[in-house]
Amino acid sequence: MGRKLGWHCENCGEGELFHLGYGANALNPPEFVKEAQEGVHGTLFKVLMSDDAPVKVDVRMRGAHFLCPYCQRIYSGKVAYVQDESGAIFRHTIAPGRCPHCNTVVDNEASGVRVRSKGIQRYVDRIWSDGCPSCGHEVERIDEPWD
Ligand SMILES: [Zn+2]
Ligand SMILES: [Zn+2]
Repeated sequence: MGRKLGWHCENCGEGELFHLGYGANALNPPEFVKEAQEGVHGTLFKVLMSDDAPVKVDVRMRGAHFLCPYCQRIYSGKVAYVQDESGAIFRHTIAPGRCPHCNTVVDNEASGVRVRSKGIQRYVDRIWSDGCPSCGHEVERIDEPWD
């Protein structure tokens, strides 16, 4: 259960859609494990996800939104919650590499600030009232329940 919130500009075709409040966790998603083993996510994950890892961990992956520090637009990424047998957890942010809006590199560590539902609501409210960030045209509101 959640809410779909976004906007669409008929003038230039731009738009964004955010799914709020979705709790789907993927446990040890195979594509992440594979990337981690190849070293894409750094040395720590390479060790933890290897077949002879010194510690057994589980990774739960969840979609997350971030505010780009360069253009102040929101982009989607992921957060990995890493848990060992004792239950200890650390979090690791996975950014898309480049901001889809301004194309600036947003790497995993220097990523934008995480934005939660209220922040997304404010962001969309602003675009609804100010108009399209690309062309300034009035935008169509998208606000629907989602499950
Ligand atoms: Zn536009
Ligand atoms: Zn940006």
